Amino acid sequence: MALHDRRTAHVQTTFVCSGKCIHCLYPRCMHSQYHGTMSDAVFQTVLDRLASLTLDTVYPCLENEPFADPAIFERADALFNTCNALWLKFTTNALLLDAKKRKQLALLLEGKNHEIQIIFHGTQKEHYTRVMGIPFSESLENVLGLLLLAQDAELHVTVCCAGQGPAGSLFQNYSCSKEAFFLFWESLFRKHNIRKRPRMRYRPYLDRTGSSLHRSGIHMLPPIREDLKTLHCLRVPEHLHVLHTGELVLCSMDYERGTLFGNLMQNDLAGIFSSEAWNLLSDSARGLRATPYDFLCKRCLYPERAM
Ligand code: SF4
Ligand code: SF4
Repeated sequence: MALHDRRTAHVQTTFVCSGKCIHCLYPRCMHSQYHGTMSDAVFQTVLDRLASLTLDTVYPCLENEPFADPAIFERADALFNTCNALWLKFTTNALLLDAKKRKQLALLLEGKNHEIQIIFHGTQKEHYTRVMGIPFSESLENVLGLLLLAQDAELHVTVCCAGQGPAGSLFQNYSCSKEAFFLFWESLFRKHNIRKRPRMRYRPYLDRTGSSLHRSGIHMLPPIREDLKTLHCLRVPEHLHVLHTGELVLCSMDYERGTLFGNLMQNDLAGIFSSEAWNLLSDSARGLRATPYDFLCKRCLYPERAM
């Protein structure tokens, strides 16, 4: 659980998101007290703190829409270089990924190992709009624009759909089938003559630890784990999640800031990862200490049920 085990960093350069996904806590917390964009001073401090790491992967995004940050391209470049990362990965709903930004993105990613993960839940306007809360046609146009750009540029795109949830899932009313997902995209590839196909990924819904469902008038799932002794989630030992304030949380599932354990504006990483707060949290997440029945990892469908 030491600092040098970190392999992946998620950095929230802004907490703005254009989406309103039905399974996401974002709309509730963004509009209350946590809204914000990382200031240049915080970003520079985060960069300085992370410079001691050698990471496999940097995500310049966390619980947000990265292209809502006007400085995202410069910041992503700086994070990738400073952390000596091997991979630069984005997760986006593509609504803001207009032609200009697509070109900027292609320039940024040139010569870097990378992946652009497009989140696109659904195959029909009504279903997509209900699940993601953003305009279907605009997002689709941007995704197709990116895929067309990728025909010539060296761009690696993955189209991700969260469809049917686990058996008994409360998301069954919002699901699209795996077959529908592949048929929908295959017809678009043919129609637009997209020869270089993106990676396609279909998986069950992640419900953001259940707590977001209140907003949608759906009852929260009960905690799915009584204890965490047999849970081996790589997020705990290997990932680093930095909020736009410089604070650290255990996981991107934590929209409630219930697992804050340090602040890069106050301490360096070595100090934070040797602190009592971190030891307590990592022991809790690994089932080595008793935790309340609603502890974050007890409510989480990831990792087993998401695979
Ligand atoms: S799941 Fe992602 S795209 Fe959807 S509202 Fe949440 S942060 Fe935004
Ligand atoms: S079990 Fe779930 S909530 Fe806990 S660290 Fe892993 S992904 Fe995050």
